[in-house]
Amino acid sequence: MKILAGQAVLTADDVIQDPQIKLRSEDETILKIPDSIAYLPLINSHDHLVGNWTPQAGDKRPYPNSHIWVEDMKQSQSFLERNKFWLNDGSFVLSAPPALTVARLGAYKNLFSGCGIVQDHGPLQQDSYYEAMPIKVIKRYRQCHSLTLGNWWGGESPQTEMDLSGGEMPFIVHIGEGTDEITHQEFAQLKSNGLLKENTLMIHGIAFSEDDIIDIARAGASVCWCPSSNFYLIGKTFDITSAIKHNANVVIGTDSTMSGAINLIGEFDLIRQKFPQISPRELYRMVTENAVKALYLPPRYAKLDPENAENLLLVDQNNSDPFENLMNLKMSEIKLLVVDSIPLYGDGIYLKSFGKQIRDYSFFDIDGREKFVVGDPQMISQEIDLALGYHKDFPFLPF
Ligand SMILES: [Zn+2]
Repeated sequence: MKILAGQAVLTADDVIQDPQIKLRSEDETILKIPDSIAYLPLINSHDHLVGNWTPQAGDKRPYPNSHIWVEDMKQSQSFLERNKFWLNDGSFVLSAPPALTVARLGAYKNLFSGCGIVQDHGPLQQDSYYEAMPIKVIKRYRQCHSLTLGNWWGGESPQTEMDLSGGEMPFIVHIGEGTDEITHQEFAQLKSNGLLKENTLMIHGIAFSEDDIIDIARAGASVCWCPSSNFYLIGKTFDITSAIKHNANVVIGTDSTMSGAINLIGEFDLIRQKFPQISPRELYRMVTENAVKALYLPPRYAKLDPENAENLLLVDQNNSDPFENLMNLKMSEIKLLVVDSIPLYGDGIYLKSFGKQIRDYSFFDIDGREKFVVGDPQMISQEIDLALGYHKDFPFLPF
């Protein structure tokens, strides 16, 4: 799949306006897609796919640290309602329904916001789990829940997990998610345990000082910023200003909707309100190039290559600034989301050009536009409704 020059190629590796897409090298099918901008599919660097239920949970906010919330949310309306569909026994084996169905719902949350790749933080699952997902859910990683609670959900000790990473995949850990002494000392603990390395991806870092951030930048490690979840649970977020000043590698994550925004576009929305000084272009970099570095993904996910456009997010152009254009993206405005050459979501009129089996897709209308999507997320919604005995509306689904 090639992108022939659009009307205006803005830069070689950023975004392309009004692209004309040549679908296969052996034929001359050229898809002209006017009034649109081509981006890379977005990357959500932190989610818990099975946690994507609504509304947000937690009655005793702000919490001094999230470890208290982890217990507290088990009494929440969301958790109890989800239990009616999938009784969570705490085992974290998620590769069979109904747990798998909930995880797939979470993956569709990401898909409908233009994400082609998501990091699902939890114990590693069987291959069949990843294969059942409508988008790319990363399976090359090692992890620990947090240094304070350890790997209560499954996995080895943090040191063993880091050893198993071989420095060739991310080691992911929640850290500094709070304002109290417990969360403040977690970074010192991480360092003294030899766990601050280039492949360390630290989630949250609310408690990090500027000096901690300097250490992180020096180590070449990465921080995943989850502002909506942080403000909601803790009332404070990561020191993004220092991180940008010291050139630390920052990526963005949604966390699950039990604490975070409804999706990655919701995160952009909150960031634009609270941190208007951060440019949309910088935010785009955080969810593409920076995420590829943090997650040890192949470079093809970090650069839009017109000669080999296997990965593409094509959306309506409503704003003359292409990066600003992405900030308020609506689900209906996604014309095409293509990951590893597979069309996953978009306007129905474009699907037939790809020559894919129609049976692999389902269709629905939003805002007067017919959309196709890989698999059948409406079926997931129906299964949930059947178990609950009423209609459950998820704000991240477009139907
Ligand atoms: Zn998390």
